[in-house]
Amino acid sequence: MSYVGPEFDPPQPERRESTGRFRRGPMVALVALVSGALLGWVAYEAVGSSGGPGSTGGSAGGPGSSTAAERSATSGTSSPASSSSSSGKSPSSASPSDDGKRADTPAASGPLKGKVIVIDPGHNPGNFQHASEINRKVNIGTNWKECDTTGTATNAGYTEARFTLDVAHRLRTLLQQQGATVKLTHDDGSPSWGPCVDERARIGNTAHADAAISIHADGSAPGNRGFHVILPASVRSGAADTRPIAAASHELGASIAGNFVRVTGEAPSNYIGDGTGLVTRKDLGGLNLSTVPKVFIECGNMRDSKDAALLTSGAWRQKAAEGISEGIVSFLRG
Ligand SMILES: [Zn+2]
Repeated sequence: MSYVGPEFDPPQPERRESTGRFRRGPMVALVALVSGALLGWVAYEAVGSSGGPGSTGGSAGGPGSSTAAERSATSGTSSPASSSSSSGKSPSSASPSDDGKRADTPAASGPLKGKVIVIDPGHNPGNFQHASEINRKVNIGTNWKECDTTGTATNAGYTEARFTLDVAHRLRTLLQQQGATVKLTHDDGSPSWGPCVDERARIGNTAHADAAISIHADGSAPGNRGFHVILPASVRSGAADTRPIAAASHELGASIAGNFVRVTGEAPSNYIGDGTGLVTRKDLGGLNLSTVPKVFIECGNMRDSKDAALLTSGAWRQKAAEGISEGIVSFLRG
């Protein structure tokens, strides 16, 4: 997802809408963590990245240059119930992740017992073979957008789609080990493309998810570094009405950003979000159409060599999954 154009709202100070059904959260902790992170950033820049052994796992699927904004969002489903309007075939869930573990059942007990979490592993690796399907426009409430895009890649060809699926598998394992029921919106080539951005939101809605997250990595200019979390603006237009979830999604996003800094040591983006690691947007179908607390995370910039060294490291991807997991856990614990 690369950012151009004026529609990026800087992160809004937390103005909770009283309509929210959901609990208040760890904003204070975030501020402390982010400022700490900024300090870390300075230190980081001083000593250079320590990305760990690269394990790109080769480039799977055609890398696509990311195009503006939302068109990077995709969605799918792992439950046969949701017949996708775009991809038709519903995926078989729980294929082995890079860590080789099959994780399709939640642990019998744990802090997340009874919680449902939907993970959207970003772009479907098969999208580049379905140009006509993914270019079809779908309605996201505020406007019409392409169903999906291929996502970006590192200069060496490690695709965003492969990165996000790996992190999604690791995150699923971590959450299930804590007792959560986890659904992926697509998984290991099933469906073979998409589903579309509108369907991604619907999957979280249908699952009545307690939290949902869409995982991405950016394709921005070299030198642009760091992660950011995208929060839904309060939107009411057509099928989009995020008023009931905006406040809780801000909490979820703040919690994930704070824990992501703490666990990965990565600083917030230095090119968007004014160093807070938080960005509020109103043009993403995956957020606009959500009726459950949901955020996107851009884990880093694949086109920056230092960030790419992190993103291609299996050890770093594990830390990224742990940071996101701990953010979700502390949000759900309220
Ligand atoms: Zn993306």
